[in-house]
Amino acid sequence: MIHQLNPKIYHNEFKMLEPRPNDYALCFLGRNVLVDGNDNLFRIKDSKGNAQFLFEIDEERFFLVDEIVVEYIEKDITYFRYYQPQHLAFAVLTGSSLYEFYRNNTYCGRCGMPMQNHEKERSKFCMCGHIVYPKIAPAVIVGILDEQHRLLCTKYRIPRSKYHNYSLVAGYNEIGETLEDTVRREVYEEVGLRVKDIQYFDCQPWPITSSLVIGFFCKVDGSTTIRLDQNELCEATWFTQEDLFPSQDETTLTHFMIDYFRQGKI
Ligand SMILES: [Zn+2]
Repeated sequence: MIHQLNPKIYHNEFKMLEPRPNDYALCFLGRNVLVDGNDNLFRIKDSKGNAQFLFEIDEERFFLVDEIVVEYIEKDITYFRYYQPQHLAFAVLTGSSLYEFYRNNTYCGRCGMPMQNHEKERSKFCMCGHIVYPKIAPAVIVGILDEQHRLLCTKYRIPRSKYHNYSLVAGYNEIGETLEDTVRREVYEEVGLRVKDIQYFDCQPWPITSSLVIGFFCKVDGSTTIRLDQNELCEATWFTQEDLFPSQDETTLTHFMIDYFRQGKI
């Protein structure tokens, strides 16, 4: 998965560091990141203006900068999902999520005055007392198994989503819910099934949507008749281990879960 950087280590302890010429300089324009003509990331020496320290991966430091002063091209951040080396893919996507936090909180949502960066923690504050922290949206991914030990795979309806590989039931946690409540609600909304024996599997930060996705496996409770949410999905199919092909996408928890099932590990 994209966040698994082993043997490298992601360090996001909050620090106020001064940039050095060869540190990485992440500069974003909306959903795009600026790179050179060979898709390489820029360094501090290629930038000017404010440089906000974001995080380190091993000894490499990454800063958010205002401006790149050499020739650049723009790349949609989703291009970096499959970028190599993988730790730079993770750095761009995580950096873009932090960029959204800083950009979206330029002014106070309570009184409209300019917000300032806190010097002791990753937050922004206003003189009126309002403080904002980076928002992380928890979402569940659900591997549903039936009595024949088949896995329910789904497909999103086009054009609601560009993504058209097999996926799993998924959705955002809402206020007042436990994660298990979210699993039960999303499964019922998307495919009309009741589930039991909900077991935590693994989780993954997913910076493209500023989410933390939490994977669960569970069993169908009662009827296996599917009632599809046709606004969101176009297909929901039960697969045996033998029916599934090895996943071509190693970046996501969804495909890790499907492959885990395919290999007979659950
Ligand atoms: Zn305010």
